[in-house]
Amino acid sequence: MKRIKILNLEIDNWSKKELLDNLKSGVIFTPNVDHIIKLQRDSEFVRAYSIGDYKVCDSQILMYASKFLGTPIKEKISGSDLLPAFCNYHRNNEDIKIFLLGAAQGIANNAQKKINHRIGRMIVVNSYSPPFGFEQDEAECQKIVDIINSSDATVLVIGLGAPKQEKWLYKYKDSLKYIKIFMALGATIDFEAGNVKRAPKWMSEIGLEWLFRLLCEPKRLWKRYLLDDIPFLFLILKQKLNLYINKDMKDNQTFLIDKY
Ligand code: UDP
Repeated sequence: MKRIKILNLEIDNWSKKELLDNLKSGVIFTPNVDHIIKLQRDSEFVRAYSIGDYKVCDSQILMYASKFLGTPIKEKISGSDLLPAFCNYHRNNEDIKIFLLGAAQGIANNAQKKINHRIGRMIVVNSYSPPFGFEQDEAECQKIVDIINSSDATVLVIGLGAPKQEKWLYKYKDSLKYIKIFMALGATIDFEAGNVKRAPKWMSEIGLEWLFRLLCEPKRLWKRYLLDDIPFLFLILKQKLNLYINKDMKDNQTFLIDKY
């Protein structure tokens, strides 16, 4: 199957290799449980998600859910694995020039240096970490658009967390005239800078990456993982029993919100 439906989202069933071989232009989102929960409640997020050309599975829990539903996704492609793989794949492709947008002051710049050192060329041409609350400030957003437009970049990696990064892209994507590939990758810039530790591989592989992240940043993440995302299990059970009422994104505008 090319696409796997989990609740109201269709996830592309690609392997990482297939994705890298096919990816010439477009918007990539990396859905996880938290995104799917937000997609049940936040109509603006649903609208922003509709510009995603590629939606690849970021989460082992979604992998389990797809298996439970009888439509397994073939490979987990988390954002934090995708960026290093993308850079390696395009190591010698001079048309690929990346701009990093996100993380706290100075962090994106550190990530830029580390990636360029590892790849052996200036694959990341520029970076910017916007100030807290920037998305409310139109002048700051326009400034970001100008910085990106004058950077020579052809790829934008945006790491502001969901739903901020998807909503920002929805609003400003068309102003970014020279960007061909847009990737919304959450905390990946932090991981690349070495500012935040990634979960050990074994934890990600069995679906415990969330627990590792929760233990690292309990204050920020407890609500997300222990409160907001728990209904996911119940909703998947509803889907399995054909009781989940589908939201349809028609013309990016009208859809019904399923109440659970
Ligand atoms: N972030 C940011 N600006 C903001 C809010 C968040 O740069 O206004 C960054 C934050 O520093 C972190 C990332 O966005 O690097 C959020 O990561 P989160 O864990 O929420 O994303 P996930 O990987 O779970 O989607």
